[in-house]
Amino acid sequence: MATPVANSNQQQQQASGGGRGGRGRNNKGKGRGKGQRNQWDGRSQAITLDSRTGTSSNSGPTRSVRFSLYYNIKNLFVCRHEIVGLVTAVGSSVHKFKVGDRVGVGVIVGSCQTCDICEQSLENYCPKVMFTYNSTYHDGTKTYGGYSDMIVVHQRFVLQFPDNLPSDAGAPLLCAGITVYSPMKYYGMTEPGKHLGVAGLGGLGHVAVKIGKAFGLKVTVISTSPKKENEAIKKLGPDAFILSSDPAKMKYIALFNNYIIDTIVAVHPLAPLLSLLKMDGKIVIVVLPEKPLELPIFPLVLGRKLVGGSDIGGMKETQEMLDFCGKHNITAVIELISVDYINMAMERLAKSDVKYRFVIDIANSLSRPDCSM
Ligand SMILES: [Zn+2]
Repeated sequence: MATPVANSNQQQQQASGGGRGGRGRNNKGKGRGKGQRNQWDGRSQAITLDSRTGTSSNSGPTRSVRFSLYYNIKNLFVCRHEIVGLVTAVGSSVHKFKVGDRVGVGVIVGSCQTCDICEQSLENYCPKVMFTYNSTYHDGTKTYGGYSDMIVVHQRFVLQFPDNLPSDAGAPLLCAGITVYSPMKYYGMTEPGKHLGVAGLGGLGHVAVKIGKAFGLKVTVISTSPKKENEAIKKLGPDAFILSSDPAKMKYIALFNNYIIDTIVAVHPLAPLLSLLKMDGKIVIVVLPEKPLELPIFPLVLGRKLVGGSDIGGMKETQEMLDFCGKHNITAVIELISVDYINMAMERLAKSDVKYRFVIDIANSLSRPDCSM
């Protein structure tokens, strides 16, 4: 039976400050060479993505060919879960992919695959979901995400990447894109002509603007940052930009929106956002503030309003989202960096100084002599 491993070749991992890649080192010390040689044979439903460029590698029985791999970092901890690359090897039972396909891996790499939730392809809500990083895989190994030059993933958790989307700017869709797309579909927030408010204009919010516009919605950005207005209007094309710190403007759009997607990570009051919703309006929170938010009940009851939550999306819907973004040519706005810029990128992230996602070009980074392992 397949026992795919979420990430392999960890000694090639490129995380800021080092200290990662323990699995690779442990393997060396525990004489698991024979087991490793046999692993690929058991991964009958797994595929391998590899990052570097070249014609061959010494990565063992996978006989992988090295290709470019892009991945993304997010927030202040290193998620490394928006990965795009080319397939370099497939297991004997893989039928969805072939060597050379450009594919993506998002936030999850495993689930039980048998429960009612998985049968609905809502693997992200499976009680046994395994994330691309910081999870324990079926075989007991820890998942480390995409900071490696190769990753092995069960085919169920691999996505075909649209031909027309670039790998670097398209990679953030694998988390940011599905995080905003899924609630819009589930909560019925896609009716053309309706008004969508996007609270917070960061990695998630800016993609929500683009997807909302593609659904034919009238989109208003609700932001705390006046600096973002000009660029947001120019690059993202919302219909309006409102500063949440401007009471007059907030009052002007009171009871204006049918839907709001709340992407504000910081602890924040919900009352001002609820005041922007029409009767029957819906606000969906897609982030995880570190403390509970205060929820005023009066506007909910008196306006029959709804507050919901949503966490990424299942594999079927994630593929649907990618295809939708391909059709509408939607990508993230990114800054492409090399591995050796990670520490600076982390410092800038702490100051919210990124527009809007950092994406690391590991293939070109690793080909540079000063970054070689
Ligand atoms: Zn399940």
